[in-house]
Amino acid sequence: MTHPTPRPGITPEQQALLKKLPAVDHILELAGKTTELSDVPRRLLTDSVRNCLDRLRKTIINGRPMVSETDISDNAVLREVKNILKSAMALNLTRAINATGVVVHTNLGRSLLAKAALAHMTDISGRYSNLEYNLATGRRGLRYTAVEDILCELTGAEAAMVVNNNAGAVLLSLDTVARGREVIVSRGELVEIGGAFRIPDVMEKSGAILKEVGTTNRTHLPDYQQAICEHTGLLLKVHTSNYSIVGFTASISLTELVNLGSAHGLPVMEDLGSGTFVDFSKYGLQREPTVRESVSTGADIVTFSGDKLLGGPQAGIIVGSRPIIEKIRKNPLTRALRIDKLTLAALESTLRLYRDEKTAISAIPTLRMLTDPVETIEKKAITLKTRIETGGSEKISVCLKDAASKAGGGSLPLFELPTKCVAVSIAGMSAAAIEIAMRNNTPPVIGRIENDLFLLDLRTVQDDELTEIVDALETCVTKG
Ligand SMILES: *Cc1c(COP(=O)(O)O)cnc(C)c1O
Repeated sequence: MTHPTPRPGITPEQQALLKKLPAVDHILELAGKTTELSDVPRRLLTDSVRNCLDRLRKTIINGRPMVSETDISDNAVLREVKNILKSAMALNLTRAINATGVVVHTNLGRSLLAKAALAHMTDISGRYSNLEYNLATGRRGLRYTAVEDILCELTGAEAAMVVNNNAGAVLLSLDTVARGREVIVSRGELVEIGGAFRIPDVMEKSGAILKEVGTTNRTHLPDYQQAICEHTGLLLKVHTSNYSIVGFTASISLTELVNLGSAHGLPVMEDLGSGTFVDFSKYGLQREPTVRESVSTGADIVTFSGDKLLGGPQAGIIVGSRPIIEKIRKNPLTRALRIDKLTLAALESTLRLYRDEKTAISAIPTLRMLTDPVETIEKKAITLKTRIETGGSEKISVCLKDAASKAGGGSLPLFELPTKCVAVSIAGMSAAAIEIAMRNNTPPVIGRIENDLFLLDLRTVQDDELTEIVDALETCVTKG
């Protein structure tokens, strides 16, 4: 045997390469002398070097892709270690450019906070605060105090309370009011919201017993009436915010449900899902019930999200009658669903903006993007198109396209907002390839493909992101 091979199936060339692979200690020593690497925490550096050499060893054994002697030279290994470290050091949670046109995009972080909210958050997080301290008495206070007054002012409710998110608000309300009792809800309202939040499941977790009435498309007052018995604890209405049943449909209004509740001495709860303080029909959008309307109709509990149409931070808001809100506050679950102080700060500032609707529309990004007239979006689209044409590669061609944006976040399900998109083609690249390359850019640019064209919807693109988009397309051309 002239070439003893410890691994069967390995050629003498592969064997030689494996032998030539630098040792971990050798690379670590070199790294110590490299200025860019000398500050890297030791364990991370060692892991990266091991990782790099392991990968090279596996590639050599696999025989694919071919590894040459230059690939395993000290310089090549060091370069690769730097790459590995670069991605290890990069933050996993990264900002992204939303060019999908979906305003409340749950996967992309839902609502952008208003400047005032960001400033308040920074102020509160870097300092001590009166989070749970009553400055007037010098004693312990309640964190909800920060937002209760403004919530009552904006919604007309007697009392208010906030938790981590609306799923938590629903769970906490049901647990407080209807644990071990029946909750009557229409079959047409047993919704699932993205991320596997299903009303029936939440109800089960809360210990309330679901009593479905009616059919998927039609539920009438007698359906509710007949279901009421001595076990009934609550009448629930869920705003079917992420889908619409059209055609032969019937459901009862909140007014009818409230009347039924008072006739039987039963509390009524409405889960509004998105929740809004603004009547969007004034701005040419689809009408959504406002929180104030639900409260004035007489719902005892109204729950909604902080970061959907409201445009604030992730939060669950509960407004309603004082005795019920007091009871909810005493529920031990409240502690587990507690709102964080950063959220509270952002929420308070966002809510303040609603005192003047015009201010709210212009200062809260979600509201501004939803109500931006198509002319404003077109201007932005033309600017982007021109910048790509004048500064960009000749391989890129762009044109404007009329399209439709969506509100998202399970709100205004059928409503399409007219918008302007920049359609991008790159010579030698498919729409799918452009989409992938843009998504892998730093920062990621998320667009959409329609009729085999890669579209950038300018409704959700911020003014200061245009340059980054032009740069991202350039990178696509050079890399693609
Ligand atoms: C979105 C939604 C929820 C959940 O709200 P989160 O704030 O995402 O927890 C609950 N109910 C309805 C009807 C919704 O639309």
